[in-house]
Amino acid sequence: MRVLLWNLRDFAPGKHRVTDDAPYGGGQGMVMKVEPIVAAIEAVCQSLDRPWRVLLSPQGRQLDQGTLMRLATHEDVVLVCGRYEGVDERVRAFVDEELSVGDYVLSGGEIPAMVIIDAVTRLAPGALGNAASATDESFMSGLLEHPQYTRPEDFRGMRVPDILLSGDHGAIAAWRRREALRRTFERRPDLVARATLADEDRNIAAALGWRHPLPEQ
Ligand code: SAH
Repeated sequence: MRVLLWNLRDFAPGKHRVTDDAPYGGGQGMVMKVEPIVAAIEAVCQSLDRPWRVLLSPQGRQLDQGTLMRLATHEDVVLVCGRYEGVDERVRAFVDEELSVGDYVLSGGEIPAMVIIDAVTRLAPGALGNAASATDESFMSGLLEHPQYTRPEDFRGMRVPDILLSGDHGAIAAWRRREALRRTFERRPDLVARATLADEDRNIAAALGWRHPLPEQ
C-alpha cells in the first residue's frame, strides 16, 4: 500500500496561493475555496483507473468497520481534507461520499484521513502478524471481541480463566463466543440488533438473560 500526500496550495493560483476566503453571507472564520480543491481532485484522479473520492466531514456518514472493509476493496481512495470552517458546499459534487469519524469537530480532515489509512492498512493481507486476528476482532462479526489474556497466569490474585489454560479448543471457542456476546449485550446492545447470530448464539443469549428481540437470520 502507498500513501501519497498532495498540497492544496500547489493547485491554488497566484503569488499567495490562497486556498480560503471569507464566507458569503458573512460570519466567522474562513471557508476553503472550491477551485483549488477541485483542481487537486482532478489532478490526482487523472492517472487513476477508478478512484473513490471521499470528503472528510463531520456531516458525513459515520465511519464503521463495514465502511472500512468496503474502502479496502478500492484500488485507489482519494481522501479530501478540509480545514477552517470547512469547504465550499460545491466541493460535494466532486466526491463519491462524505465520511465522519464521529460526532465531534476537529480542526482539519488530516487526522480523520489518518484514521482511515490506519484502519484500512491493517485489513491488508500481511499487515497483521496473524491474518486471522483481523477476522475475529471487535466489530468484524458485528460483536465486540471476547476478553484477551496473556502471561502471567496470576496477576495480584487476578487469575486467567481456567478454560483458556485447558487446551480444549472447542471449549475455548465456545467460551470466547459466549463472552463476546455477554460483553456486547452489556456494553453495546445497539450492535446486537444488527449482528449475525447462529442458533447456538440464541441459546447463549437466552442463558445470559437477553430479553429483547434478536435479529432474524
Ligand atoms: N464548520 C464545519 C466543520 C469544519 S471542521 C461544520 O460544522 O460542518 C474543518 C474540517 O475538519 C472539515 O472540513 C473536515 O475535513 C474536518 N473534520 C472535522 N471534524 C471531522 C469529523 N468528525 N470527521 C471528519 N472530518 C472532520
